[in-house]
Amino acid sequence: MNDAVFARLASLARDFRASLRDQSPLPASNFPAGKDLRAKYDFAAAGRRSLEDIITDVSRWMESGTLQVTHPRYFGLFNPSVHESSIIADALVALYNPQVGGWSHAPAANEIEQWTLRALGSSLGWTGEFAAHFTSGGSEANHTAVLAALAARAPGYTAGGTGALPKPPRIYLSDESHHSFVKIARACGLGEQALAHAATDSSYRMRPDALLAEIERDEALGFTPLMIVATVGTTGSGAIDPIPEINEIASERNLWLHVDAAWGGSAALVQRLKRYLAGIEHADSVTWDAHKWLSVSMGAGMFFCKHRQALKSMFEIETGYVPATVEGGVDLYKESLQWSRRFIGLKLFFALAEHGMDGVGRIVERQATIADTLRARLRAAQWRVVNDSVLPLVCFTHDTIDGRSLTTQMVVDRVLARGRCWISHVTLPREEPALRACITSFDTTEADLDILLEDLRAAIAPRA
Ligand SMILES: *Cc1c(COP(=O)(O)O)cnc(C)c1O
Repeated sequence: MNDAVFARLASLARDFRASLRDQSPLPASNFPAGKDLRAKYDFAAAGRRSLEDIITDVSRWMESGTLQVTHPRYFGLFNPSVHESSIIADALVALYNPQVGGWSHAPAANEIEQWTLRALGSSLGWTGEFAAHFTSGGSEANHTAVLAALAARAPGYTAGGTGALPKPPRIYLSDESHHSFVKIARACGLGEQALAHAATDSSYRMRPDALLAEIERDEALGFTPLMIVATVGTTGSGAIDPIPEINEIASERNLWLHVDAAWGGSAALVQRLKRYLAGIEHADSVTWDAHKWLSVSMGAGMFFCKHRQALKSMFEIETGYVPATVEGGVDLYKESLQWSRRFIGLKLFFALAEHGMDGVGRIVERQATIADTLRARLRAAQWRVVNDSVLPLVCFTHDTIDGRSLTTQMVVDRVLARGRCWISHVTLPREEPALRACITSFDTTEADLDILLEDLRAAIAPRA
């Protein structure tokens, strides 16, 4: 291998990160270099470009043709800045390319992942036995939860599919829950009709009385209530459903309780926030993404489940070719959706090993604190905050945004046009559209908030 190529890669990683704040987070429109891509890279004539040339081209394209979600002024969806250690870990994973699906192929990688997952599981207050594995993201983890619940509570499903079930199963979630469940219900053969959305309160949290009413109505109509999904950190407004009350309803009726904490789960590592997750220790399963608020590169989701047997009923198969399970080891291909499996967990191991659990918690907390500052400064500048999340997600509007002469879309467009910040807008139940800013970078500072506030002020200023 060529020293110069690795040196180039190293300097690229260093220089890009160092210069990011001085650049725009926004991509040049429409990737004009696409023509360049097609003209230069006709694969029929492959094998003629040096790795250095290819790195130069790809980095140029990635820098001009990508929304830079690791930028400190990407006030975006839950795509984080990434620790330097993620870059190192991803490279090491490619170097060794371990097959993590079977224990006997990769005991070291499996032990590193299970050790990491044990530590995070205990931060959720999970003290007993549990199964856990890494996933591509929250969607796969949520999908796994529904499948596990079906295996455990809908006898006949694994052999006969939904057709073998005497009554159609129902899944309860709030009207602000994640849309991955729509895809999951379709993909599991349940169909969207299996989803029952309970109404939320004025803070966009699931209303336990509405949940109970849905369940009772379904029972009368001849459905089988299967599971309840409580969301910790809704995508729209950062709401946290009341897990203790929901758990009471679930345990009285023997329903599977899944907590979708894909983004908000990281609050478990923050002393002043963890009380908002109370009750998560009672869940049957939990989704928690490391590639959101734990600032590791995509895709790194986590799935925790107290019922290993349910996972085995759903995923276990016997092959004539994979080496037998090793005593004491976990063969993940027998208890998860994936077969060939990447060493997803190494980047999270690196983050925890480098900073410690407390250190990672402090990094998470800093983002929550910056969001508190943003809320205070917005209010001081006569903006109205319309969500009351304790998580770093702020939805806000202003009296001048009347939906006619000035809309939230116009404000977003004007902020983006200045090229310094990325924000978006959101429509919450029973509210007019609002602006949405999420602190997703551990590098975001008060000086970045100054820039955002300045651009917001300019966006609502009367125009000539
Ligand atoms: C992001 C998110 C998901 C989906 O996770 P992916 O990692 O994007 O697949 C599911 N639920 C919630 C609450 C989320 O925030």
